Amino acid sequence: MKNIINKLKRYILIAEDEYINQEILKEILKNEYEILVANNGLEALEILKTSTKPISLILLDINMPLMDGFSVIQEIKKDKENMNIPIIVITGDKESELEALTLGAVDFITKPFDLNEVIMARVNRSIELSEKRIIVSAAERDELTDVYNKHIFEEYVGKINKYRQDIKKDMIVLNISHFHLYNELYGKEEGDKALVYIASILKDIARCNDGIVSRLQRDVFAIYLNHQENYDEFITKITNDLKEKYNINITFKIGIYFVDDFNEGAEECINRAKMVCDEIKESSTKFYNIYNDEDQQKQLFKEKLTHDFKRAIDNKEFKVYYQPKISILGDKYKLTSAEALVRWVHPELGFISPGMFIPLFEENGNIKILDQYVWNEAAKQIKIWKDKFNIIIPISINVSRADMFDESIVDIINNIVKDNGIKQSDLYLEITESAYNNETDQIIGIIERFKELGFKIEIDDFGSGYSSLNTLATLPFDVLKLDMKFVHDMFKNDKTLKMVEIVSEIAKHLNVKLIAEGVETKEQLDMLKKLKYDIIQGYYFSKPVDSLEFELFFNKEF
Ligand code: C2E
Ligand code: CA
Repeated sequence: MKNIINKLKRYILIAEDEYINQEILKEILKNEYEILVANNGLEALEILKTSTKPISLILLDINMPLMDGFSVIQEIKKDKENMNIPIIVITGDKESELEALTLGAVDFITKPFDLNEVIMARVNRSIELSEKRIIVSAAERDELTDVYNKHIFEEYVGKINKYRQDIKKDMIVLNISHFHLYNELYGKEEGDKALVYIASILKDIARCNDGIVSRLQRDVFAIYLNHQENYDEFITKITNDLKEKYNINITFKIGIYFVDDFNEGAEECINRAKMVCDEIKESSTKFYNIYNDEDQQKQLFKEKLTHDFKRAIDNKEFKVYYQPKISILGDKYKLTSAEALVRWVHPELGFISPGMFIPLFEENGNIKILDQYVWNEAAKQIKIWKDKFNIIIPISINVSRADMFDESIVDIINNIVKDNGIKQSDLYLEITESAYNNETDQIIGIIERFKELGFKIEIDDFGSGYSSLNTLATLPFDVLKLDMKFVHDMFKNDKTLKMVEIVSEIAKHLNVKLIAEGVETKEQLDMLKKLKYDIIQGYYFSKPVDSLEFELFFNKEF
């Protein structure tokens, strides 16, 4: 049966002055394509400019009157609208072939003409490749700023490293300082606009230095470009352009890695630049940081920890320590519960404290696996003490920000409780204050489900994040845990002491228990007791210890 649906045909422009050649080409292509014909170069450009039909390919004769094929290619390549239309040149001599290809033609057809099938195959293939490239190029780019996405950027960096080893290169990571505040102040739309401006300035810089740009996260860009001796100019240009052209006052942190080995992967280069970028303190007047030997040692250490993680989980190299939480209500101070804190006993590197690996695992996602391991160990420990001493010592476990983005966390922790034969009320969940900064609704939803199941919720590091009083009022929680730095500084200035007092009042109003951690001296303890803190955790009573040593606290008077 004849196909009644007329398949959408693509348009081909034939630019050829000899009538006979026009006819031959038309004859070959007419069944599959719609044909437009130009008799010389000028006419071809005119058709391109005025045609309302999308042209999929140009078959271009090199020798034509008025304007030859080379000039036509050069003109087309200058024209934004048409520069990506694939061009096949029609030529009789080898030299023209090479020149046309250098100018940007994708293929050539020789005169006298080859077999029809050969011409047809070359035309089909060129159109197909070009269309594929358009699809890829849409997926290659970040929608908002039109710079490369991370994946494609890394691929191109790999290609540059492979083929352009003659020129030294730098990897730069640029992080906009306090961008969340800019967003909050001016709204998301203005924030987006600023990102687009910044991207366009970076593209300019990249263009002048043989470089490419990518957006890694909302407010983080990467640039790979020819080595620069001095970055002051670079920073001045971005800052000035933003101020002068767009009236935007934004500052940056910039991490720079001078690539010294082209075999390094793109991701490694980005990580190095990012690492030294992250090290610039928000309060610093320094805008950029260059990766050096010491950084290299740190990076190698991080890479080793990342590499060894899976083995460490399998071999149970992570050990859970417990730090007592002591109730100071009344005259007798007594043990009420414990906080589970993980340590890594590494077979080669020895004892590693969590400050060295928790931030790293938060970054690379391993934290979820580690946390579940620790939660399980803690639950097991509650059961062991229950069976051995017939007492329940509730244990607080740390829940990372990353854990709170996955709703299945509720079932995971609930199953840990069930599997270990303990009660929900035996596990307290310490959720750091900074977890409430984003996606507050979702996180409140998760916390409510925990509460319904009977878990106790502690807000950890209170005072270190930006949680508003409003969040605090709507959040269902049981315990407030003051960030350690307040205790540390409370005798250093009056304002801090006042804050410690105000937090106590807030806790009383909200009817929640109040913990102070990081308590190291009797002076601090006495003051906190005076200010009506309920529970104290800190070196004054004990450092975190292993489970056996912890048992010594069971009958101890503090
Ligand atoms: P954090 O949750 O704020 O834990 C309190 C930290 O303060 C612990 O450090 C503890 O040993 C330390 N500390 C307790 N009393 C004192 C004191 O009197 N003086 C001083 N200077 N420090 C005191 P640690 O064990 O090194 O843990 C550091 C951080 O690592 C923890 O801070 C927590 O955020 C994280 N962390 C530890 N274990 C885990 C875990 O299993 N999962 C997750 N997600 N994070 C963990
Ligand atoms: Ca904690």
